[in-house]
Amino acid sequence: MTNPHAGETPLILRYAESFRCIGSACEDTCCHGWRVPVDRDTYLRYQDLPDSPLNTLIRESVERVPEGENSGKKPLFAIIRLDSERRCPLLTSDRLCRIHLEYGEALLPHTCATYPRVIQSIGGIAETALTLSCPEAARLVLLDSALLDPERLASRAESGADPEPSSAPISGDLATKPALDAWMRPIRDEVLKIVANRDYPLWQRLFLLGIFCRRLDAVLGAAAAGEASRDLSAFLADFHAAVASGALRSSMQTLPAESRTQLDAVLHLAGLMLRKSRVEPRFLECIQAFTAGIGNGPNATLESLCAHYEAAYQRYFAPFFDRHPHVLENYLVNTILRLRFPFGRDNNAPEPERSVSRQFALVAAQFALIRGLLIGVAGYHGERFAAEHVVHTVQAASKHFEHHVEFLTLLDSWLSEKGLNTARALTILVNEPVTERVGSPAAKLSTPP
Ligand code: SF4
Repeated sequence: MTNPHAGETPLILRYAESFRCIGSACEDTCCHGWRVPVDRDTYLRYQDLPDSPLNTLIRESVERVPEGENSGKKPLFAIIRLDSERRCPLLTSDRLCRIHLEYGEALLPHTCATYPRVIQSIGGIAETALTLSCPEAARLVLLDSALLDPERLASRAESGADPEPSSAPISGDLATKPALDAWMRPIRDEVLKIVANRDYPLWQRLFLLGIFCRRLDAVLGAAAAGEASRDLSAFLADFHAAVASGALRSSMQTLPAESRTQLDAVLHLAGLMLRKSRVEPRFLECIQAFTAGIGNGPNATLESLCAHYEAAYQRYFAPFFDRHPHVLENYLVNTILRLRFPFGRDNNAPEPERSVSRQFALVAAQFALIRGLLIGVAGYHGERFAAEHVVHTVQAASKHFEHHVEFLTLLDSWLSEKGLNTARALTILVNEPVTERVGSPAAKLSTPP
């Protein structure tokens, strides 16, 4: 079985390399507001530091996490105890890290040394995404109109990694992790090509991604069952050709735009972590702008909220993102890399992800949540809606949702409980909330303020 992707340049994303922390100038420092984990090695090195005012402060600020509290997906060894203002006590008055100033990166806890970078391995090649809870990372990712510029993508020669997809028979073996590993890169690169394909509006690219995942599940499912299944390389080539030829366009013409279902989902998703994750002031500002932007108030009904939501979309959200199509594209690309889509983050999982469609549902729901919040925020700022509002909203929402170990699990179970993880429901979540753009009756509705 030859690899039709042989000779193609793998899409290796390198944008994270240009990230630089802005230190004191940061509007929402990562050294405030959340628990700072300290890995075992760093903790033990702190114990050996010679006595000095700083080293004493370090030892007094870092505490071991008792065994009993060490459960959950990400067991903690130790943490930095925050001060009464929930700041890291090792931060100077001008918000610089004393450990970094005194010892450089060498003695930083792993989390502090790597944040906001998220390193993933796809098909044997390491790539770095950025978590957008860091304002500077959010600016770098969202506002770069050339993030997917081919020039910026490393060539195969440079990477030198990229093992050839296995030539093992397609069924059976593909169910094993090593065989699938070899196909991860061609599969992931096809995903990026779909997301970058501006022949389709962004929501249709997500719709195509949903089809891609369902069909990939069928191929992998058959292989796992030891049944003769489609040749993966043929599947990738055929799907690429179908997207390029527009053969799937007809199936999108009649897709439902249901702002009511969409807004109802966005309202629930926005509240999904309220009991689990602290509501920081910056996220509260977003929620207040969102609710004001969709006309929330004592006499509001879901109908009136929907009418404001649709109008905010048509009058302020859509024109802005039509002028800046790269912003939400880049958000998706970074999410795909950050979540190691479509295979899932758990590199060490013994078995490969059993349902890439489940991974798609998680990405689609996060996209719908962020876009829904942005529609309300656009409605609130009106003509003044600008990139700074997008960065603020995405950053604050990422900080509120993405760092909670239960977020993806809660999102997954909420989608299945509500029956919103079906192809149709996910399409409604990502589709435009209106079938008509500016100029339609709804657009004439006056939106506050
Ligand atoms: S949030 Fe980002 S820019 Fe701000 S201090 Fe942390 S790493 Fe630096």
